[in-house]
Amino acid sequence: MVNKLKNRPIEILVNERLQKSEKNAIIDGVVTVRNLLLAGIPNLKMPVKYFESDEYPDIRWANQIGKKYSSNTNQINGGVMSQYLFELQNKVNFPYIVYITQDDLYICTDKNGNVINGSGDNGFSAGLSSENGPSIISTYRFKDIKNENERISCIKTLTMHEIGHLFGVINESHRNKNEIDYRGGAHCTNDDCVMRQGWKVPSDWQQMTKDRRGKSPFCLECQLDLKYWLNKKDN
Ligand SMILES: [Zn+2]
Ligand SMILES: [Zn+2]
Repeated sequence: MVNKLKNRPIEILVNERLQKSEKNAIIDGVVTVRNLLLAGIPNLKMPVKYFESDEYPDIRWANQIGKKYSSNTNQINGGVMSQYLFELQNKVNFPYIVYITQDDLYICTDKNGNVINGSGDNGFSAGLSSENGPSIISTYRFKDIKNENERISCIKTLTMHEIGHLFGVINESHRNKNEIDYRGGAHCTNDDCVMRQGWKVPSDWQQMTKDRRGKSPFCLECQLDLKYWLNKKDN
């Protein structure tokens, strides 16, 4: 039985106006995963909505909070933004929030997701997602990819990956633990799947983008994870 409570809109919130091609890639990435999730389930819709910050002030505020609590002036703190966006989700009837920023993102959390303050060297992350949201996607580390089509395709790959996490991929309860990559959260190890970990940015994402061409972006196990998520009763 599909859990109908999961039938909520997916809201894409964009901090800075995107190029048309970037906007289309992100919407396309979200819709592709949404359609995989809902394949064969006609009574769920999960409409995808797109908002820019001039029509939704909380969007800009999320980025400002990320900057305010950053220990590096050139980056935004994904951990605090994620908390803020989670509260926003609760306040506005719990849509699935996908937040897009062009700033450089880092995650200041330990492996249990607890925020660590002032750790100094933050590294960076192209994206950050929790199951049921929010998802945060930063296009920053792809900006130097010279080939425009490739850059746009990488943004779509990253979007599909983060939306996968939002909808419960990887579901460890039915996966073989030896076939999970645990670096930076659970990831897929199957060939060609966009749910593999993209540790090196942008090169791993360029590779995943090449690998997914002409195929389903998710392997069969990750597609099964999506179906498990739809049947979960936990929210
Ligand atoms: Zn991931
Ligand atoms: Zn997979």
